[in-house]
Amino acid sequence: MSSSALAVQAADQLVRDYSLSLCATEESLAAVREVIASQLKPKVLDVDLKAEYPEAFLRALGLAGGFNGAVAPEFGGNGLGLKHVIQVMEEVSKECLSSGFLVWCQTACARYIQLSDNDWVKKTYLPRIASGELLAGTGLSNTIKSCDAIEDYRLAARRVDGGYVINGVLPWVSNLGADHVFTTGCPVRGEDSCSDGLLFVLVDCNQPGFKLVDCAHFIGLDGTRTLACQFKEAFIPDNMVLAHPSESAAYIKRIKPGMILAQMGMGLGLIDACAGLMAQSNRTLSHVNQYLDDQFEDIDGALQEGRAASYALAEQLEDEPDADLTLDILKLRLAGGELSVRAAHAAMLHQGAKGYLVRNAAQRRLREAYFIAIVTPATKHLRREIARIEAGHACDA
Ligand SMILES: Cc1cc2nc3c(=O)[nH]c(=O)nc-3n(C[C@H](O)[C@H](O)[C@H](O)COP(=O)(O)OP(=O)(O)OC[C@H]3O[C@@H](n4cnc5c(N)ncnc54)[C@H](O)[C@@H]3O)c2cc1C
Repeated sequence: MSSSALAVQAADQLVRDYSLSLCATEESLAAVREVIASQLKPKVLDVDLKAEYPEAFLRALGLAGGFNGAVAPEFGGNGLGLKHVIQVMEEVSKECLSSGFLVWCQTACARYIQLSDNDWVKKTYLPRIASGELLAGTGLSNTIKSCDAIEDYRLAARRVDGGYVINGVLPWVSNLGADHVFTTGCPVRGEDSCSDGLLFVLVDCNQPGFKLVDCAHFIGLDGTRTLACQFKEAFIPDNMVLAHPSESAAYIKRIKPGMILAQMGMGLGLIDACAGLMAQSNRTLSHVNQYLDDQFEDIDGALQEGRAASYALAEQLEDEPDADLTLDILKLRLAGGELSVRAAHAAMLHQGAKGYLVRNAAQRRLREAYFIAIVTPATKHLRREIARIEAGHACDA
């Protein structure tokens, strides 16, 4: 066959693959929307006002394939990657940011496992996390902030026969429970107490030496089962290690860009919902709403741009995992947090006094929007990292 015929054949195959993945995505998102309508919509106020943890919804979402984008097909995933993760999180966050954040926790943990070199953990845990049978969190805020020299490490590990022993406390980790798992990372200290590098592990909340403590309550996102994690001489066997200190620099580079980019799913869903509240109010109040700074078209236009940029970066990250997309991702994530707060503020002003009612979505969206701007990496953290990179400092990932 001539080289031009081969090129045509390859292009045809690409088009076929692309159409197949579009069909698979549409089918999967339709199933996700059904679960949201039947299991989440009736519960949104209970999650927000009564701090009810939406466990039944999360399990149903898992069964409907909502977490599958984070997992390779050989471990029960769908091969649709990070874009699918963002799209599912977006659909969920249109209704409820607490649940959208829990989708992020579950899929972030799955992705950290998927991107490790530990085949035993992949085989043992990924199919159960993908299906929602096992619920999972991630306690990496402190690790990331400490790597970026913002705060001190809260956990420390020491090497022992067959594993590591960890001590310390993480104040806030979400999507946890006695039969859940989560990932975290901390320095391994030698006898001279100098750090030998970072260790990343999967922790079983049921294991000896580990305790969950319910000590913090929040003005929003309180239904996310955010608990303190106490490690007291907790032994983590080698088979639960996602990256040993010698592997951790490369591991952080693999997980960090996707971890941050995926959070855009929360912002896109929330901004979409705020634009909806503005449009709804304009049906009767556009004669006075037109004097507000941000109009529906402003927020909706910025949303469309943010969505296109998020999907494009997610596809690029999957196709070229070694590409340096850090600065683009940090800037997009910063814009996502800022636009979330702006959109929720605009929705509140459009809705007026109605938006101030306890059961109205506008004031809930405002409280939720601030979470997007303060969860790690927070607005101040993102601005610091962007400034550092633009000033020529090397970044970790
Ligand atoms: C509802 C909710 C859910 C959260 N869920 C998670 C989660 O699932 N996983 C997770 O890792 N983090 C979680 N966090 C923590 C979050 O990502 C940020 O770390 C936290 O909001 C603090 O950010 P900050 O910018 O205010 O901290 P800063 O202003 O930079 O820090 C203030 C000080 O508070 C303490 N501190 C703050 N955050 C942490 C932390 N993460 N670990 C240890 N000490 C800390 C430190 O002493 C720090 O110096 C959650 C926070 C909230 C409010």
